[in-house]
Amino acid sequence: MTVPATTAEWTCTRCGSTNRLLVATGTATARDRCLHCAARHQLTPAARPVRWDARLRD
Ligand SMILES: [Zn+2]
Repeated sequence: MTVPATTAEWTCTRCGSTNRLLVATGTATARDRCLHCAARHQLTPAARPVRWDARLRD
């Protein structure tokens, strides 16, 4: 069975790089690591569906 997915696009707060993560539709929070500097972030959906808010986490 295929799970509907959406692209979460977020900006690294450490290096400013744009990252993209495929998440299941309806996901409230996600975790991802910056491809460029490897900083871990907590992601939450923003007003615009594709653009997610990113917070640095340790
Ligand atoms: Zn980064």
